[in-house]
Amino acid sequence: MVLKSKSAIVTGSTSGIGLAIAKGFAAEGANVVINGFGQPADIERERAALENEYGVKVLYSAADMTKPEDIAGMIKLADDSFGSVDVLVNNAGIQFVSPIEEFPAAKWEQIIAINLSSAFYAMHHAIPLMKARKWGRIINTASAHSLVASPYKSAYVSAKHGIAGLTKTAALETAAYGINVNCISPGYVWTPLVESQIPDTMKARGLTKDQVINDVLLHAQPTKQFVTVDQIAALAVFLCSDAASQITGANIPVDGGWTAQ
Ligand code: NAD
Repeated sequence: MVLKSKSAIVTGSTSGIGLAIAKGFAAEGANVVINGFGQPADIERERAALENEYGVKVLYSAADMTKPEDIAGMIKLADDSFGSVDVLVNNAGIQFVSPIEEFPAAKWEQIIAINLSSAFYAMHHAIPLMKARKWGRIINTASAHSLVASPYKSAYVSAKHGIAGLTKTAALETAAYGINVNCISPGYVWTPLVESQIPDTMKARGLTKDQVINDVLLHAQPTKQFVTVDQIAALAVFLCSDAASQITGANIPVDGGWTAQ
């Protein structure tokens, strides 16, 4: 098992890609801190299911990724409970679709905080723990939008380009300490985040739902298929393996060929 006796934190893991990564890590023997919003009963059901299915310890942190003090508390929870923070996945993210001139300032600030600054704060607290143990894996869920832009997604594209740069910087700073820092950059993955942006895109572009799916979302993806959350989780597990120990500072697209164009 790739992560036996290791501990992992996955932000934004009550749903979508993060939940699949948390499951992938638990299946490989890691104790996991899950995080994100949702109904307490649903979160508790997921937490208990992970523990029961994989025989590992799973804790829930309600840390809000817009709050640096909550992020510090989440890292401390993992370290105090599991004795280490071996793997950190900065995955929490939100989207908002609007032309720049109508883009609400509060949304801009919120997206930069959740999709970019939270990764800085989490790394700020986790890297010293990893350095002390001379081993660590940091995976940032970026996006094809860390490499290319789309209209009406100014804050998201800015945050994702930012996290690609943060990843490279952190990789250089930690390379001599057995710590690898990489981005996974998915194209369109079928999750609540993608589904929830369909109405706004319909409005912004005056399109039907089918047109948004086929002509906007999958337009850029040459395979004409959505990426699955399990494909992202499998890559995250691989990046934690010994086979990936020389991969650091990379931004790995999983986008059906989108950014090859
Ligand atoms: P999702 O909406 O299913 O999950 C987002 C998670 O983030 C949830 O657990 C949510 O509760 C959590 N979250 C949101 N705001 C938070 C906050 N303030 N504090 C803590 N947690 C918070 O979305 P997803 O599609 O699984 O997205 C996960 C990541 O993958 C995001 O960074 C997203 O940008 C990225 N991504 C997604 C796609 C896609 O097509 N779905 C493509 C590229 C990149």
